[in-house]
Amino acid sequence: MPHGQAMLNLGSFRLRYILALGLVAALTLSAQILVHLNLDENEGYARTVNLAGRQRMLAMGLTRTAYALLPSDQPRRARLLNEMALDLHQWREMNHDLGEGRQDGGLRAGGPAIRQGWRELSPLIARIDGTAEEVLRQFREGDPPASTQALVTELFELGQRYLPAMDALVGRYAEESRQRSRTLQTLGMTMAGLVLALLLAEALFVFRPITRRIRSDMFRLTALAEEMSELSRKDGLTNVYNRRHFDEQIAQEWRRAAREDQVLSLLIMDIDHFKRFNDHYGHQAGDQALRNVAGAAAAQLKRPGDLLARYGGEEFAVILPQTGLEGARHMAEAIRRAVEELAVPNSGSLAAPVLTVSLGVAADWPARNQGPENLVEAADQALYRAKHSGRNRVAGPPGETPEDWS
Ligand code: GH3
Ligand code: MG
Ligand code: MG
Repeated sequence: MPHGQAMLNLGSFRLRYILALGLVAALTLSAQILVHLNLDENEGYARTVNLAGRQRMLAMGLTRTAYALLPSDQPRRARLLNEMALDLHQWREMNHDLGEGRQDGGLRAGGPAIRQGWRELSPLIARIDGTAEEVLRQFREGDPPASTQALVTELFELGQRYLPAMDALVGRYAEESRQRSRTLQTLGMTMAGLVLALLLAEALFVFRPITRRIRSDMFRLTALAEEMSELSRKDGLTNVYNRRHFDEQIAQEWRRAAREDQVLSLLIMDIDHFKRFNDHYGHQAGDQALRNVAGAAAAQLKRPGDLLARYGGEEFAVILPQTGLEGARHMAEAIRRAVEELAVPNSGSLAAPVLTVSLGVAADWPARNQGPENLVEAADQALYRAKHSGRNRVAGPPGETPEDWS
């Protein structure tokens, strides 16, 4: 069945749909991770610049203290010595942190150029360290010799060389960090562009076909449902409406007529001596005759509201909204004549040499507090009278004879 197949194919769409979403998720996630890693590294850079700044301050402090020591008296010297020892200690620690890296910050985290610069700076750092240590030692051991002046001067000179070298290194570091920021921006833009392009492609090639397929399936399903619903209201043999639909429609028309204060008519039609027809020509010919009679009757209906239904075996009913007894009688007579004019031979019939029908006619002004049962009963009674007054004729309410009508 084509409808079933169409719906099964949606399975492959589901796989594509999941893959498409997965791809977007993976791309977005990797972009996030990349940005996060880069941000982490940049934070490390900022910490390094901070360390380097403090290192500079300490280097300056060391030389300043060394000079202050030269002419100072005993109590002041002790304080200065203490200060210088503390600065040296911090300088060493800071030096280690800067070179080896501390909490991911430190020169080692930089690129190869930075590491090379740090290596070049190492001998100078070692000399500052040794010289400051020697100055301290000499002052601690008592009155320093005259050569101490030269030592302090050397420490000062070393500091003078160290500061610009350290600044240059930090400058390189800052430049590398700026470049990283730019790369990060480009990366972010590229990722966003990629995600957008991917979403666009998925919308075009995955989601659009899916929605199209769903829409066309819905159209087909709606058409199928309508077809099924129409089939459920039709009689399989004659293709006119079935009894179930008739029952619904007569009740509905009754209510409508009551609401709108309209007259409503009903015909019940029965084929004459149909048992004899079946016996004589066979059941298949009987079925065909039923179809022909239904077709002839249907051809007589003129208004869109008129409804023909197969009421029972070889009985039919016609609902005629907004039609009075007179109009209904005309319609019944037209149907009777149309069937007779089909000229289907019925040699077993006692009424005529051809297949004929009898019809009962009833009309009423429906009341809201009643149902259509009386109308149906009246039409049935009229049909009974048509049968008993010779068949192949139309009968109305009691008291009237078919002859009165013609
Ligand atoms: P009357 O003029 O009094 O109506 O006589 P009748 O023989 O038509 O009346 P009755 O109700 O006794 O018989 C109806 C027959 O209609 C019985 C059955 O064989 C036949 N019939 C009912 N439904 C079908 C059908 O679907 N196909 C065929 N071939 N015959 C059917
Ligand atoms: Mg019958
Ligand atoms: Mg009959």
